[in-house]
Amino acid sequence: MTRRNPTREVHVGSVALGAGHPVAVQSMCATRTQDVDASVAQAEAIRRAGGALVRLAVDSPRDVDGLVEVRRQTRANLVVDLQESYRLAERVAPFVDKIRYNPGHLWHHEKERPARDKVAYLVDVAREHDLAIRIGVNCGSVDPEMKARFPEDDVQGMVESALEHCRHMDDLGFDRYVVSLKDSHPRKVIEANRRFAAARPEVPLHLGVTEAGMPPEGIIKTRVAFEQLLSRGIGDTIRVSLTLPNPRKHEEITVGQQILDDIAAGRFRSVPVFDDDTLNIVSCPSCSRVENERFVDLARQVKEMTAYAQSHALTIAVMGCRVNGPGETDDADLGLWCGPTHVNLKRQTETLGAFGYDDILPRLKQELDALIAARAAKPQD
Ligand code: SF4
Repeated sequence: MTRRNPTREVHVGSVALGAGHPVAVQSMCATRTQDVDASVAQAEAIRRAGGALVRLAVDSPRDVDGLVEVRRQTRANLVVDLQESYRLAERVAPFVDKIRYNPGHLWHHEKERPARDKVAYLVDVAREHDLAIRIGVNCGSVDPEMKARFPEDDVQGMVESALEHCRHMDDLGFDRYVVSLKDSHPRKVIEANRRFAAARPEVPLHLGVTEAGMPPEGIIKTRVAFEQLLSRGIGDTIRVSLTLPNPRKHEEITVGQQILDDIAAGRFRSVPVFDDDTLNIVSCPSCSRVENERFVDLARQVKEMTAYAQSHALTIAVMGCRVNGPGETDDADLGLWCGPTHVNLKRQTETLGAFGYDDILPRLKQELDALIAARAAKPQD
């Protein structure tokens, strides 16, 4: 078995991460947190599948009420995802084992307040309630000032953002934290995590390829990244993010465990290199924020409809909501993000309009054909 990085131990509920403990497999509910029955059923399905931690998103006081009830009805170790609502931390803290915040979202919220103060608030809450924290950096929402410092480097902004927040924690004397650096491209996940682990080898890492998409491609992308990192001793807990319908969400755990078992047994797959020479469909794993249940189906239809363009080096991103959808589609050639009744279509950062769920596929095809034609017309070097 590969020697693991000498990370420190971080306890989250009944689980110990880092310090040579087995790599923990975790997942996130895609249900609405205020839909208690559905959330409890999914949290329990994830736990029964072997999930060490179950994450839920909280965006509103009603979600907090839902979370309180979910806590009562499940034995799972719970993590709360605070994305836009870091101030809800103190309300959910008594009911969870870890809080995750995104430094990019923290930057946007209460801009006049220094990030360090906001981190100090979260650390106070964590200390008071005996919680761990995850600094969860995400490619699509890196603090824009940090991103602007590295215009030529597509991962260093993520790495520096994580390092900066680690320094905040260190200055506050809080070491019960883990870090994640996620991107939808395995190359960037590998690179960002390698750089971070070289700088801070003692900080436990949560690995994940975000918006990996549907099986089997989503599994392959994740496997590529995890093989490269875990075989170098990097990674203490993993999450596989797949676009799956709710009744199958717990399969993220079985897939994650299978990847770990294969790596431990030396079963490395011969995997395609994601070097951008074919069509790349990126889709988010969905979560409680999905605005229309047709999202998972739409992601599948996009994949089927675009199969004819497989040999073209283009990226199409399909996202489930307005919170992360607009930002996380910026780097795609074509992006779709779902609203309650309409799907928003983008060409890179440019918005092309909002279309009904029944109208979006032909419109997407039209844009895709135009992009392919434009590239064909371009003189070759
Ligand atoms: S894009 Fe929205 S719906 Fe999809 S996982 Fe991210 S927050 Fe959830």
